Amino acid sequence: MTDCLFCKIVSGDVPAKIVRESAGTVAFRDINPQAPTHVLVIPREHHPTAGELAAVDAGLLAEVVREAHQVAVDEGIAESGYRVVFNTGAQAGQTVFHVHAHVLGGRGLNWPPG
Ligand code: C5P
Repeated sequence: MTDCLFCKIVSGDVPAKIVRESAGTVAFRDINPQAPTHVLVIPREHHPTAGELAAVDAGLLAEVVREAHQVAVDEGIAESGYRVVFNTGAQAGQTVFHVHAHVLGGRGLNWPPG
């Protein structure tokens, strides 16, 4: 999509600190980190939400989750614990409607989330 910020990160038109890439995904550091590790994993293809991606390509959603785990391994937080979050919809805080997994860790994370 031409007006999608994360599509522009995939194409290289908007810069990002990319930490991992796979055939179907790109992972980059969140510009406004909420934890010592805060990385976003996105599919290269445009899909608005995790639910919509699951409905049309469950394998690609699984690749996003696999890559999220690999980010945690690379960042050294897989053992201590980390969180993978898909904000879905405006009330849940989704601001960019290109599905993205937040990978958060490196500090204690509260539950329930705000
Ligand atoms: O879940 P939500 O849609 O709110 O997440 C979008 C995320 O994208 C935010 O955490 C924001 O900081 C991040 N972002 C980014 N780089 C940009 C624009 C937004 O990492 N250029």
